[in-house]
Amino acid sequence: MSERRVRVRFAPSPTGGLHMGGVRVALFNYLFAKKHGGDFILRIEDTDQTRYVKGAEEYIINSLKWCGIEPNEGVGFGDGPHAPYRQSERKEKGIYKKYADMLVKSGHAYYAFDTSEELDEMRKRLEAAKVAAPQYNAVSRQTMRNSTTLSEDEVKKLLDAGTPHVIRLKVPRNEEIRFHDIIRGWVVVNSSQVDDKVLLKSDGMPTYHLAHIVDDIEMEISHAMRGEEWLPSAPAHILIYRYLGMEDKMPQLAHLPLILKPDGNGKLSKRDKSGLPMFPLNWFDERTNESYIGYREHGFFPEAFINMLVLLGWNPGNNEELFTKDELIKIFSLERVNKAGAKFDPEKTKWFNQQYLRKRPDTELAEMIRPVIEEKTGKKYDAKFLEGFCRLIKEKAHFVNEMWDLGSYFFITPTSWDAEVLKKRLNEQTLSLIKQVRQDLAALADFTAVETENTFKATAEKMGIGTGQVMQLFRVAITGVGGGPVLFEMMELFGKEESLKRLDNAIAAFKV
Ligand code: GLU
Repeated sequence: MSERRVRVRFAPSPTGGLHMGGVRVALFNYLFAKKHGGDFILRIEDTDQTRYVKGAEEYIINSLKWCGIEPNEGVGFGDGPHAPYRQSERKEKGIYKKYADMLVKSGHAYYAFDTSEELDEMRKRLEAAKVAAPQYNAVSRQTMRNSTTLSEDEVKKLLDAGTPHVIRLKVPRNEEIRFHDIIRGWVVVNSSQVDDKVLLKSDGMPTYHLAHIVDDIEMEISHAMRGEEWLPSAPAHILIYRYLGMEDKMPQLAHLPLILKPDGNGKLSKRDKSGLPMFPLNWFDERTNESYIGYREHGFFPEAFINMLVLLGWNPGNNEELFTKDELIKIFSLERVNKAGAKFDPEKTKWFNQQYLRKRPDTELAEMIRPVIEEKTGKKYDAKFLEGFCRLIKEKAHFVNEMWDLGSYFFITPTSWDAEVLKKRLNEQTLSLIKQVRQDLAALADFTAVETENTFKATAEKMGIGTGQVMQLFRVAITGVGGGPVLFEMMELFGKEESLKRLDNAIAAFKV
């Protein structure tokens, strides 16, 4: 058999904001497509009208754009040869009905006229008979109102009268269903575990089960990657392909592992309390009035976000952790996707952003932070000063938006000083040292980090005080706070005049 062209799809339902788990599914599809020079398609699975959420589709599109994992075909990305890519529009064209009718005709699907009350009754009956998992199947269907129990005439009459009905898959009673999953290997399920799934609903809309198969066939999908929650339905899907006589058109399946809560207990939920976002962009749920913060708005770089995501369930086979998108495209493979669920790790997630923050050129960071700083201080700064600030403070930050809080003293001359440090370190001797250092620094022609550090040390030595005794106090005198980037580098950036002014202020305020 000739190799199929790689065509994969991300097929979200617009039933809410796109959770980060959904983004990961999209990411794996994207990387796989790019690696094999194939196509990555966005299909909107909007057949469940009762769960449709306004704005969700746009949100999905914007999220993929922000993450840089853009489909080359599909809704919002210029369509393509298989348009339309929205299932509601495809339904209008009668695409799904045609396949459902084929299955009815070949005897592999049937009409079912049961009302919801009748279905309820059936469930109660089966529960009373201690049936472990009550379902509409080869046994229970025999007691129901459908075209396997009614005469042809009766069925025709009901159909002609427009009686509400669904079309169900006729699953055999006791047959072994075997299929291969790229991640899980061979899976064997007995058909007695599979229910007679509804394929076409009474409103004429297909269910997910029928619609995604029809679309995967028609859109020539080669590999279907999706969440593990779909694994139990896969046997029914296998039967549908078989009964359509289209097993050769079936994509290879790959069920991706779940993303678990940080403690490993259960699936990561959108209400996770780890303090990190669960959504790529801010999301407001109109139905529940709940707002969710996005990775973007939290201050994440999209590169960091997808780098973190790819490692939830995939591994490169070594200890490397930082990958650009292009590197991922080269090395990604489904064989390295784990079966086991992947624990979400909030600290590690921040760590990724920190790594990307450190990698960003100071020139870029400076321009990102400029508006914040100019707004806070009401002053203008030259690029060099801002770049120096970014170079020094970025070691301490996870996010660009933390940089102001971490280093506002770069811009604002301190008027208060860390009381703890003063209490511990300020005395007559250390104060006189600071005064002396101030004099010696004033004499410097070259106010570089090396020169100021040498001066500080020489003065301390001359006065017989260990630098360890006074270093932090000196830092507090200059910055107001007890910790931060390398002090002498900061002083070089502040310049002589500002540094001396800060020392003068401190000396005037320090009381022993
Ligand atoms: N609409 C399904 C979902 O949102 C798609 C599953 C699949 O990729 O087949 O989970």
